[in-house]
Amino acid sequence: MIAFDLQCSKGHTFEGWFDDKEAFEDQKKNGFVTCPICDDKGVFIILSTFAIPKAQFPVKKETHRHLAVGDIGRKITEFLEKNFDDVGTEFTKEALKIHYGVSEPRNIRGISSPEEEKLLEKEGVPLLKIPLPDKIENSN
Ligand SMILES: [Zn+2]
Repeated sequence: MIAFDLQCSKGHTFEGWFDDKEAFEDQKKNGFVTCPICDDKGVFIILSTFAIPKAQFPVKKETHRHLAVGDIGRKITEFLEKNFDDVGTEFTKEALKIHYGVSEPRNIRGISSPEEEKLLEKEGVPLLKIPLPDKIENSN
């Protein structure tokens, strides 16, 4: 299930739960998605205020922040920085958006908590975990 923030053509906003984006499009096509305030059928998804099920997991920044950095680590870090969009703590939300076709498909990287990883796994979002430091720190 996924929660979409929806808006009708008159500007009322409300939340709707659907199996996925296709389910929303299907139900909308059949006239089942209506504004609870004015019954309008011209309902669309507002992208900016996307919500994930059971949102607000505490994000532990320590997750995936170990490993010594040698040359290979540096190269991987550089590669990721060049080729992956850093979405930081929005990682889980953004991964779900891409998975459900709400966002542009692209490579993203960011921080996730074990709870969020479980959620992504449950939703079938392909996820590659690479332990990397946030940035290359000077070692004393
Ligand atoms: Zn309305």
